[in-house]
Amino acid sequence: MNKRPAILSIILLAGLLTGAAQAGNDNGEAQKNYRFTKQFYGELIAGKAPAQLAELNLLMTMLPKGGDIHHHYSGALYAETYLDWVAKQGYCVYRVDDIPNHREKFRIDTSRPSATSADCLSADAIRKDNGFYRQLLMRWSDKDFDNHSHEEPAPDQQFFNTFGFFGPASDYSPQDGLKLLKQQAKADNLQYLETMLKGSPAIANPALESQLNALSSDSDAHTIEQALQQYADFIDHDAAAQQAIADYRNKLGNYAAGIDDNDFTLRFQSYTTRNNPPGTVFSNLYTAFAAAHDNKLVVGVNFVGPENGYVAMRDYGLHMRMFRFLRQRFPDVRLDLHAGELTLGMVPPEGLRDHMRAALDVAGAERIGHGIDVTYESEPDQLLEDLKRRNVAVEVCLSSNAFILGVKEQMHPVTVYLRHHVPFVIATDDAGVSRSNISAEYLLFASRYRPSYDTLKQVVYNSIRYSFLSAEDKKVQVKRLDARFEKFEADVAKLARK
Ligand SMILES: [Zn+2]
Repeated sequence: MNKRPAILSIILLAGLLTGAAQAGNDNGEAQKNYRFTKQFYGELIAGKAPAQLAELNLLMTMLPKGGDIHHHYSGALYAETYLDWVAKQGYCVYRVDDIPNHREKFRIDTSRPSATSADCLSADAIRKDNGFYRQLLMRWSDKDFDNHSHEEPAPDQQFFNTFGFFGPASDYSPQDGLKLLKQQAKADNLQYLETMLKGSPAIANPALESQLNALSSDSDAHTIEQALQQYADFIDHDAAAQQAIADYRNKLGNYAAGIDDNDFTLRFQSYTTRNNPPGTVFSNLYTAFAAAHDNKLVVGVNFVGPENGYVAMRDYGLHMRMFRFLRQRFPDVRLDLHAGELTLGMVPPEGLRDHMRAALDVAGAERIGHGIDVTYESEPDQLLEDLKRRNVAVEVCLSSNAFILGVKEQMHPVTVYLRHHVPFVIATDDAGVSRSNISAEYLLFASRYRPSYDTLKQVVYNSIRYSFLSAEDKKVQVKRLDARFEKFEADVAKLARK
């Protein structure tokens, strides 16, 4: 199961090293620039004094960042973009809570004409009301959550609430949204995005659903397997289900049309949410796998939503068995799992013992999103060893983890991953909600944890190496990244001489 990616990685790494050596022989100037850059960066993070943040920020803005491979489309867009869409489409935003009519202050109503009414405001009216506008930005993102006193929900609740507010507008124009994200990616010196844009469809079948809904994480393997098999066979032979899968594939294909160019590549992960009843989760997962099967554009599957949710915790074991089943049914589909996005106090200690372990051993995940609970898991030393040996990369999302989980500074396990040589990447998760960008994530990484220049560079290359691109596509991306680094180091060498 893990042999193919491991061999692939060795080949890629060999290619990378050979390429670097050749560049060195051919080009003494490039080597000189590399040494200058390494020295200059080293000086900015050296010693016990705080890192030189402004200078480092300049460098992190210029740094080639390769790919952002833990990326949620709707959370990546800024609140200001959603308000633009409210204006463009003539949507309105509720001004007050109206519980009997299921209306929540700050939520977008996409069904009404644009005229401002007493209870629903147009974008124009919002922009003229500075107080409401500022409050809206705070509710549609994490903006100003920590820097002044105001009524506030728990941070993880604040974070997940944002999607409910702007969510209705997020479907408006994926093409426009992707164009904006591409512009931002280029400004950040990113060349690749692996994003989660749209969840896969559920396929209803009440009888089969209730059979699955009766299962639990403790049900015996054979019973689970049989129920999954029946549902899978039904979807395989149901014309409407196959049409739903084809429509989903086509939709993603249409969104991505015309986006790729010589400097930028876009790929999708299909996904579903983890807090629904088992029958729904399974049919969603089946279509997510079917959409990624034999598809160059949809390169993997993911699983989203609050991992500390009641259903997510209760059914975690059952979900891992679903992934195991689907991996056997669709062996070509790559699996990336949000796992271990938990910390002490959020759930009881026993809830921290085995999520990453099960994602690795039962589900067969090839990448892990967040991996924050690693130091709380049973036999954490062995888990670290296994992640490294199986070449499973962890996606480190520093701003997101600091906000949602309160895990930051020296408590963030990226220090442990560094020490134990577990591969990892730096990613944004939801840059719009966090009001961050990939450069800011690298600034946090460099200033807090002070990796050497070579390590920093390796982490950037990891974002291509551990992406779910094909081996051929990776070769192309690595070449592009080499060229970007050559330019970056030449520019920094000039900067360092000033
Ligand atoms: Zn995420």
